[in-house]
Amino acid sequence: MIRRKPKGISSSPSNIWSNGPAGTPGRRRRLPVTFTFDEQIAALEAERERLLRFPEDEFTAIIREVGFSCDCCGRCCTREFNDHVFLLEEDTDSVRSFAPDAVVPAPAFDACDQEKRFYVSGYALRTKPDGSCIFLEDRRCGIYDRRFAICRVYPYMLHREADETGAVDWRQIGGLNEHGCYNNPIDDAECARIARETRAYEAAFLDQAIRFRRALRDLFDRDGLRYVRRTYDLMMRDFRKGAEVEVRVFHHGRFEPHRVTCGVYGQ
Ligand code: SF4
Ligand code: SF4
Repeated sequence: MIRRKPKGISSSPSNIWSNGPAGTPGRRRRLPVTFTFDEQIAALEAERERLLRFPEDEFTAIIREVGFSCDCCGRCCTREFNDHVFLLEEDTDSVRSFAPDAVVPAPAFDACDQEKRFYVSGYALRTKPDGSCIFLEDRRCGIYDRRFAICRVYPYMLHREADETGAVDWRQIGGLNEHGCYNNPIDDAECARIARETRAYEAAFLDQAIRFRRALRDLFDRDGLRYVRRTYDLMMRDFRKGAEVEVRVFHHGRFEPHRVTCGVYGQ
């Protein structure tokens, strides 16, 4: 049965894999690159305030109403269905402890300096040549007990993003009616747990984005760096054509340098 789409529930399947407030292929709005770092930080802080104020009972009611259950198709673990799996810092630490080669700089680069170095707010999971997550085995997660924060909450989300008309509103479920089963009973305690964990994930995501931009602002101020949109666009053009670029990845307050080509992302 196709159910009515409740207001504010995203039908976009692309929530899980992405890093942008931004991210979010299509996951969320990217902050306009013309914003200063201070303006970006203020916008993200305001977004975090909105997130923390979102009514708990409204979120749990939506979760109950949708009644989602996973049918283990494995599609959300592929680039085809989503884009990339963005990792919170704790998840990056975790995966590095048992599979250090499984992380790559998240592909949605956030900024570029005049020395042609990109900056991004964190890491993503590497994919296999067929576009599936490096941990996906026969449509099942090969590290299920150790899977990452976004893998645990998906397809639940609690953030605002634009729909196909450009209208920005809260989104609570990713890929509605495009995967899984609906109208299943979920008891109140489970709805509350999902709501709590999803909001915690979104808050952690915004915290990381805010800390990244604060560190970037301080680095640019200290080293006399400038963000030049034209340089960013030219470098992205070269990157998409196969050029190797330097990407500095934010991790626990530092920027870790990497050199990547688009081949790393299967492009
Ligand atoms: S870690 Fe597991 S759940 Fe997460 S995207 Fe990869 S295969 Fe899917
Ligand atoms: S039903 Fe949805 S959440 Fe479950 S494996 Fe498929 S795409 Fe992922």
